[in-house]
Amino acid sequence: MFTVGIDLGTTNSVCCTLKDGRYEFITFGREDSLPSVFLYQDGKKSFGSMAKRKSSVYAANYINSSKTFMGSNEKVWDIDGKEFTPTDVASELLLHMYSSIQNQYHLVNEDIEAVITVPEYFTSNQIDETKKAGERAGFIVKRIVTEPVAAAIAYGHEIEGSNEKLFIFDLGGGTFDVAVLSVKGQSANRVFKTEKLGGDKKLGGDDFDEVLLNMMLSELRKTKGINLASQSQSGLDAKTYANLRLKLKFAAEAAKRELSEIDSYNIVLANLFEKDGVQHSLDMIVTQKQFEDKSEDLMDRIKQEVIKVMKNNDLSKDDITRVILVGGSSQIPFVRDYVQSFFNKSPYSDIDLSKIVAMGAAQLAYNTAQGIGDVVQDMISHSLGIEIVGDKFSPILKKDSYYPIERTEEFTTTADNQSAIEINVFEGEDIFNVNNNEFYGGFELDNIERAPKGVPRIAVTFKFDESRLLTVTVTDMKTGSTKTKTMKKG
Ligand code: ADP
Ligand code: MG
Repeated sequence: MFTVGIDLGTTNSVCCTLKDGRYEFITFGREDSLPSVFLYQDGKKSFGSMAKRKSSVYAANYINSSKTFMGSNEKVWDIDGKEFTPTDVASELLLHMYSSIQNQYHLVNEDIEAVITVPEYFTSNQIDETKKAGERAGFIVKRIVTEPVAAAIAYGHEIEGSNEKLFIFDLGGGTFDVAVLSVKGQSANRVFKTEKLGGDKKLGGDDFDEVLLNMMLSELRKTKGINLASQSQSGLDAKTYANLRLKLKFAAEAAKRELSEIDSYNIVLANLFEKDGVQHSLDMIVTQKQFEDKSEDLMDRIKQEVIKVMKNNDLSKDDITRVILVGGSSQIPFVRDYVQSFFNKSPYSDIDLSKIVAMGAAQLAYNTAQGIGDVVQDMISHSLGIEIVGDKFSPILKKDSYYPIERTEEFTTTADNQSAIEINVFEGEDIFNVNNNEFYGGFELDNIERAPKGVPRIAVTFKFDESRLLTVTVTDMKTGSTKTKTMKKG
């Protein structure tokens, strides 16, 4: 049996295994992470960097950031007449990882046990879909763990203190997630608890790419007099324009990465596009300082989020024992500097920050297989409950309760001689109007006690397990009629 940890990221996915006490990464081509992008063209599937390269020619066949839509029933990509849901895309990516693992480790019929990570704010439906995608790809999904907890586990051997509070700062490609975790206990008996959350789901490395892209556009406007801000202003046809935007975006990202290492970088894009029979190139120098200045608004948003999480939870900088930087974008020098100066603590940053989550997951997968190690205690991020009379919502498992958890509540009928009762499960916080919450699905329990309204006693049990799956059991306490369902969004 082989174990892996998978960080199925919005931008990049990383797959890691623990071998002889050391972390090893699955390689994709020459890289040890897989851009979470997919391209379908002429019946052929491409992944990662290959898909990215092809996308500048086949922009319409390209799917990126599909994780943002995970669990949504409405989102479907239609490419060449074939439909892909967010779960399909996840499953394609996971299947690619699966075969890459098999190749790299020459596995033939061996089971591969995986721990897959998800953002802390994922709903149980989104988690369920992630698990399904993993299973469809062939993995035995041992458990799902949240990204901040996985990041903390990656540093597990160093986190020994009997009472630590960790601040996890994760700036990825499209999202910014903050979590405060507490760690109690020693070595194999540590308990990880997520205590506070924060962040911004629309803030990440892509926005920094955009800053550089805008600098490139303004350079082109100044030097060529061509405005590429929109297709109509550019005077280019739609396809040329879309492909050009992608090329510029990739160049911006590459420049951004360079600027994490060096003080100034020369962006050179020969024969970038043709207009009215003239070839145009771009040649410009960008300094770290210029990049930082233009990123001021983004940095302000990041700072506000950090301050908000600290303030709203009455945390002082001294309460935080360690700061853990996670995510590729935390490698931007001025981002690091800010975190360091705010907390007045050197954050961990000795390893590649985009790989930490997968490393923690790999550790957990290994430990789970060996039956050793940490207890992970996490909170439920949204209340789960049922619809009650008058379109109201009765939460059974409250937001912020720790799981695994099981709770039972009693309900009754609203009409005389009812023979069945309808159970509709929702996730959310609006107790006055259930329709403002997210519908999960429902089912009916029949053969209930025939009696005047309010008399039958119906027990509703919500069980939320370690993998964050919700199982609902409804039982009539008189007739014994019972039904159990693992909930999926309806
Ligand atoms: P996600 O968790 O969203 O999948 P990652 O943690 O892998 O993403 O972060 C991806 C982002 O990190 C991208 O925007 C990428 O450009 C950025 N990134 C990766 N390496 C660097 C670097 N050395 N300097 C700056 N940004 C980087
Ligand atoms: Mg990530």
